[in-house]
Amino acid sequence: EYLLFADRVHKTYPDGKVRALTGVSLGVRMGESVAITGPSGCGKSTLLNLLGALDRPDSGEVYFRGEPLSKRRDLDRFRARQIGFVFQSFFLLPTLTARENVQVPMFEGPPLSAHARAKKAESLLELVGMSGRAGHRPAQLSVGERQRVALARALANDPVLLLADEPTGNLDSENAARVLDLLATLRQDRKLALLVVTHSPDVALRADRVVRMKDGQVLLDGVAAAAVATR
Ligand code: ADP
Ligand code: ADP
Repeated sequence: EYLLFADRVHKTYPDGKVRALTGVSLGVRMGESVAITGPSGCGKSTLLNLLGALDRPDSGEVYFRGEPLSKRRDLDRFRARQIGFVFQSFFLLPTLTARENVQVPMFEGPPLSAHARAKKAESLLELVGMSGRAGHRPAQLSVGERQRVALARALANDPVLLLADEPTGNLDSENAARVLDLLATLRQDRKLALLVVTHSPDVALRADRVVRMKDGQVLLDGVAAAAVATR
């Protein structure tokens, strides 16, 4: 019943005395939105990275549709096809235009012709309200526009799940609201699950569930309104 499930994961960084995660379990169901909150350094990004197969736990396991990620030999491909990533600092490639940036993950996805890739990129840019800027490079775009291009890129391979680390962290409130509205629409239209790391109560309140972490552990896991009320 879980799309993605972390089962008692532990993580200590090689150089660190800090144990970033000490036995965290967390699941995301199909179509569900979950917000992870907690003070800086409590392990939110580390957990997101383990769930997104960007890093491996020291012990414990992450399951995708019940299959352990540690047994997969095609992690890069798996990640590119099933998961979309959105980060606080967009990580767009500076020399590529918006439409080229959106196509980057498609090279790891199911094979498409150049024409099909271009068409898909255009339609994704339209979805995020950026078709008028398709030929612009990141430096020619406002920060709000960059995040919308990054969001279009995250959807390049029609993922079932979006992982977002402070997706509105660099945005003013107007652009943040626009990105959050887009995420809500995308979730509905595409039945996307969303796991978002955030300091923002506005972002957390829009999730189905809020998970609060502290010192590498889950402190609280419950419906959004209740969790935010106890801040
Ligand atoms: P935030 O709480 O806003 O996410 P952090 O300062 O905790 O900001 O971390 C931002 C990023 O920097 C993290 O995702 C992590 O990968 C990296 N980072 C944090 N602490 C360290 C560290 N001690 N050494 C190396 N990289 C770190
Ligand atoms: P958060 O996202 O909640 O701010 P992180 O997951 O980034 O927390 O960090 C958890 C702990 O792990 C922090 O103490 C941080 O300094 C440490 N850490 C994070 N990334 C690294 C890294 N690449 N190398 C060493 N320590 C790290």
